[in-house]
Formats: sequence, C-alpha cells, structure tokens
Amino acid sequence: MERTQIIDSFAAAARDPLSYAKQWKARTGRPVIGSFPMNFPGELAHAAGALPMILQESDDPITVGHGLLFPFYCGYTRSMVDQAVRGDFDVLDAIMFGDHCVQLLGAADAIRMQLTNTRVIFFQLISSMCDPWTQGRSEESFAKLRAELEDFAGAKVQDEAMHASIRLFNKNRGLIRRLYDMRKKGIAPLGSVEMQHVVKSSMVMDKAEHTELLEKLVRIYDSAAPLPARNVRLHLSGHFCQAPKPELLEMIEQCGVTVVGDDLYHGFRYISTDVPEQGDPIAGLARWYMDRNTGVPCPTRVQNNVDWDAYLLNAMRDEKAEGMIVLMAKFCEPHMYYYPEVKEAFEKADMPHLLIETEHDGMALESLKTRVETFVEIVKHRQAA
Ligand code: SF4
Repeated sequence: MERTQIIDSFAAAARDPLSYAKQWKARTGRPVIGSFPMNFPGELAHAAGALPMILQESDDPITVGHGLLFPFYCGYTRSMVDQAVRGDFDVLDAIMFGDHCVQLLGAADAIRMQLTNTRVIFFQLISSMCDPWTQGRSEESFAKLRAELEDFAGAKVQDEAMHASIRLFNKNRGLIRRLYDMRKKGIAPLGSVEMQHVVKSSMVMDKAEHTELLEKLVRIYDSAAPLPARNVRLHLSGHFCQAPKPELLEMIEQCGVTVVGDDLYHGFRYISTDVPEQGDPIAGLARWYMDRNTGVPCPTRVQNNVDWDAYLLNAMRDEKAEGMIVLMAKFCEPHMYYYPEVKEAFEKADMPHLLIETEHDGMALESLKTRVETFVEIVKHRQAA
C-alpha cells in the first residue's frame, strides 16, 4: 500500500466519521459509542465491544441548532447541538458526556433533550490534579463509568479485555508519536493537514484497522533520509475540542512555514500519554488521566506544579521551533483565561508568537494570510539578526 492510499483512508474517515461509523456498524453488528473530548478513555468502550468515537465538529453551517444554545458558545458545542437536532447522531447507540467546561455542560443538556432514545452516560472527572485524593477520585469515576458501560452492554467488562484494549491503544499512540518524531527530524514530511488526518482518524476509526495502516505508514518512512529544511519552523498550539480547519493549516504552510510540532488536541495532545499496561486497569486509567496533564498541560485542569507556558517553551526548544502560532477557538473560555500567561511567558523568553482566533463559519483567510506572512518575515529577520 502506498503512502497516498494510506493517508487517503485516514482522510476519508476523518472527513466523515459518522458515515465510517455506519459502515462499521453494518459490518460488525456492534454498537457505536460517541464521546465528547478530551478525557474519555476510549479503551473502556473498546473493551466493552463497542466502537468508541470522539464526536467531531461538522463543517456544515449551524442552522437548526441555533435556537438551543447561546450564539456566544464555541463552534464545537454549537455544532454538536446542531448535528443532534438534524438527526446526524442517529447512528450512535450511546453518548458519553464529560464535563470539562461550562459550554460542554450546556451542550450536553441540549443534546440530552433532543436524543431521548439514545443512552446518555454522564461522567465527571476531578479537575484538581495535584491533590492527595486526585488518583482515588479518578479511580472512582472510571469505575463508575465501567459499571455504566457494563449496564449498557449487558455484560461484564473483564480486566483481560481492558488490558488488551489498553495495549492496542498504547501501540496506536506510540506509532503516531514515532511519526511526530520523524516529522521533527525531517524524515517524514507530513503536512499539518495530513498529520491531522492521522490523529483525527485515530479518534474515530476501529483501532485495530487504524493501527495496521499506521504500521505500514511508519515502515515507509523508516528508511528515509532527512530532507533539507528550507522553511521557518513553527509550533502550533491551542485548539482543544475541534480540529483546526484544513484550509487554515494549508494557508499557514503556504506562507513558508514547516510545522514541526504541536500541542493541539487533534494532534500531539491526544496521543501524548500511554496507560500503564500492568496492574489494575482502572488504576491505570486514572494514572493516565493524571499523567496526561503533566505530559501536555491542559487549561481546563488545575495543577499548581505544572505550567502550560513552560511546557510550550521546552517543547519548542526540543523541536528547534523558531516561533509559535496559537490557534484559539472563538469563545473558548479555558483558552482565553490561560492565554495571557502564555503571552507573558513568551514575551519574557523573547520567543515570537502569533495569536489567531478561529471561527466555525466564515474565517477571513486572506486577511489572516497577511498577518501570518508578516509574522514569518519577523521570525526570519530575528533569525538573521
Ligand atoms: S474547552 Fe473550549 S473548545 Fe472545548 S467545549 Fe469548552 S469552550 Fe468549547
């Protein structure tokens, strides 16, 4: 199988996850469980025999869902409600709602009202990450989630099944991390849109099928030599629940940029951390939940001994990135609250960065392009100086 064929398979699932889910369901006869980002462990639903899929923002304009959610909610939550009202989620047998921000809670309520025949599983995770009781409380939440899934599936979710799912998910994450490493070294010239296809499809595809394709892709690059670097090396940061629009990523790269790293949820954040493979699987998932926030800090969590800004500066040193573009989804409160700290730290460290606010509909790409081009020139001049 060629590189293009593999990327095309990833892109097809990433562009239309609900159609992929329909086909998967028809093929396997097994249930599909949709979940909100960003902390739901797909391993649990997988071990229960279902297809776990992280629900994705749609490209369609928001129409019928307008009346159910405030217009100042982020594009992701408004799109979720819109898809629910339009009946797009009919393929789902259950939905897992998490509570990582106020807007997500509002969207969960609106969807619950619409999808009266769909099983809703709601779970809350402790957001304070460095208290002595965090691990214990997380274990309680994941144990409750397991019990709800067992009730939904009508069968016990055995430890062995959970260990097998954890191993498969770890393998998948590990392969994507290898691609990230190869991209950083110039061995795998994957553009940001291609990388997004790889990660986004991992959020929605059958994990075994996805892993098989990933292994083939990694093998293609295994023996490749590094390509000479010509562009400005940048890190992409931010954008939590929804994937940045491909046309935005393409525009950034057309301005003479090579993206060498990111901490996007539809990027490195999603695959940064593995679940321990030994011991009690529920304790392992709780450990994973806590380790993720030290691996790639998240502004929706609270942890005194972890700084997102310090993480970003370190990651960029490692990636030899010369600047950073921050992608902030309009009205994303956790990001808006945290961004001033990032800005201050980057100014102190004399590291250039550019903030771009993104919208669900109608981004003025031409004017954004002028800003990115100017930013790239600034970075180049600084390097030359
Ligand atoms: S974290 Fe941000 S993007 Fe995600 S649901 Fe909340 S406001 Fe929207």
